[in-house]
Amino acid sequence: MNKLALSDEILMTIDKPARYIGNETNMVVKDTKAVDIRFCMCFPDVYEIGMSHLGIQILYDMFNRREDTYCERVYSPWPDLDKIMREKHIPLFALESQEPIKNFDFLGITLQYEMCYTNVLQILDLSGIPLLAKDRTEDDPFVLGGGPCVYNPEPLADFFDFFYIGEGETVYNQLLDIYKEHKAKGGSRKEYLEKIAEIEGIYVPSFYDVHYKEDGTIESFTKINSHAKEKIKKQVEMKLENTYYPKKPLVPYIRATQDRVVLEIQRGCIRGCRFCQAGMVYRPVRERSMDFLKEYATEMLKATGHEEISLSSLSSSDFSGLQELVYFLIEECNKQKVNISLPSLRIDAFALDVMNKVQDVRKSSLTFAPEAGTQRLRDVINKGLTEESILNGAMQAFNGGWNRVKLYFMLGLPTETEDDIEGIAVLSDRIAREYYTIPKDQRNGKVGITASTSFFVPKPFTPFQWSRMDTAEEYLNKQHFLRSKFNEQLNKKSIKYNWHEAELSVLEGVFARGDRKVAAALMAAYKEGCLFDSWTEFFDNKKWVKAFADTNIDINFYTSRERDEEEVLPWDFIDAGVTKKFLLREYKNAKEEKITPNCKLSCTNCGAMEFGGGICFLPRTEEVNA
Ligand code: SF4
Repeated sequence: MNKLALSDEILMTIDKPARYIGNETNMVVKDTKAVDIRFCMCFPDVYEIGMSHLGIQILYDMFNRREDTYCERVYSPWPDLDKIMREKHIPLFALESQEPIKNFDFLGITLQYEMCYTNVLQILDLSGIPLLAKDRTEDDPFVLGGGPCVYNPEPLADFFDFFYIGEGETVYNQLLDIYKEHKAKGGSRKEYLEKIAEIEGIYVPSFYDVHYKEDGTIESFTKINSHAKEKIKKQVEMKLENTYYPKKPLVPYIRATQDRVVLEIQRGCIRGCRFCQAGMVYRPVRERSMDFLKEYATEMLKATGHEEISLSSLSSSDFSGLQELVYFLIEECNKQKVNISLPSLRIDAFALDVMNKVQDVRKSSLTFAPEAGTQRLRDVINKGLTEESILNGAMQAFNGGWNRVKLYFMLGLPTETEDDIEGIAVLSDRIAREYYTIPKDQRNGKVGITASTSFFVPKPFTPFQWSRMDTAEEYLNKQHFLRSKFNEQLNKKSIKYNWHEAELSVLEGVFARGDRKVAAALMAAYKEGCLFDSWTEFFDNKKWVKAFADTNIDINFYTSRERDEEEVLPWDFIDAGVTKKFLLREYKNAKEEKITPNCKLSCTNCGAMEFGGGICFLPRTEEVNA
């Protein structure tokens, strides 16, 4: 075992020292002197969250299969250790070798949500890597970003040397091969960036210049280096059976947020919900083969000792082999006493049968995500879920012994009216009323309904990328109005209402659709002490408000402003597959309350066909569950 970077004295004083000592089951050990490339993979949040992330596990496995590369990991030090590291000038280190990240060739940061951006600055700062890419020298690692937030990387453009837009399996090997050659020849930092800027999917922000109009919108976005591409085209892996997938995932010593084997069954989603970025940018749908899934499920359970396996997908019910896979897993898991978790499953007879077999009905609750309270608004967002199917699903479940239901909604969706907001309370009450139609002697106690609302945040590459977002005040008013409507319902005592922080959603909105200018506010907020902003106990809105005021950046410009169709959007230089024409058509359909069929029923020509595979080339079917 390597000498630990933190002394025993420090480890004894901080919370959960296991976050920083590495050496977990299935951790890769290599001789750091015998490799050509040292890569540090970072998830900018606390260890328990980062360790639950599938993407890092896939890339960790893929990179470490290369003999010339050692891929290690780092997560955000919790505030207790952050303070000690700053006081004692301890450089941030990777878990495997316990050596400073500053000595690595690459620091790869996955950007999963906007509110981890101050943690990105913390990672750079504690590592001793200049925050701004332009200040880095030949001795600094290359800082690269990937993950869903790179579909608008502009708020972070100043802090990264390059971004990769697409699925990790496609170009990383090429990046490393070029780097190895480049390092052997002794080329400069700029030369390497110029070489990789020619690879599809790689975006080097310093090779582009942005000019703004007087009104603050973008005038032009131009490349200023001949090696850079005009458009950065998202890269996808079309043959999922040939991709890397860890048979021996890392198993932490302390409980991770997702403490289970994760089996990714497919990528993409056929549904086309108009608010959902993942459903748009991960198109087209590609399924993994049954043989692959059965083999990997068995091997991973063996290699980890986990007591639960979870199927990962944006919409598991749409996976064509779901029944075969789930019944196989039930048999396998029964042998090994392993639990199966099936998130994102639409409630129907099959789902209830499976849940009956794998869960304790009395303990588990059902989850529905109607997102909107009325059919009108569900049509606006193209949710494809009718009230009838929700009530039917709930009733089948109640008859099967369930009595707890979780409901997820959004407030602030485009075109929302007071009726739509009230509809959330009415729908929750209707579900409770359904329950009480069951004769008393056949009921399983009282019904319990938990309705939660989050605030709608418009995201790039969705049909709502042009739409305005509510202000924090508007959100709060809607929340109060809804609360009063819950109080008017017959079954109000059976319904619990939970809601999200409005200010946090507003900031998420700024960074989701922000341009390069918002980096100044991010930097100022970090200097004010903002960190772990997605954690309610650390989020300090006053500091953020001050940061925006000090840097003269108007929050409302980014959030509560409807964009014109002609406006140059900060992420327009990215080709994510779905075309602007399709997104505009969908935005218009939304305003006209017209629904668009899912990809299994009919192809609406979104643009993802250009990737040459997946659902786009399969025959259409008539029947798809609502
Ligand atoms: S091209 Fe058609 S089938 Fe393919 S993802 Fe787009 S809408 Fe769906």
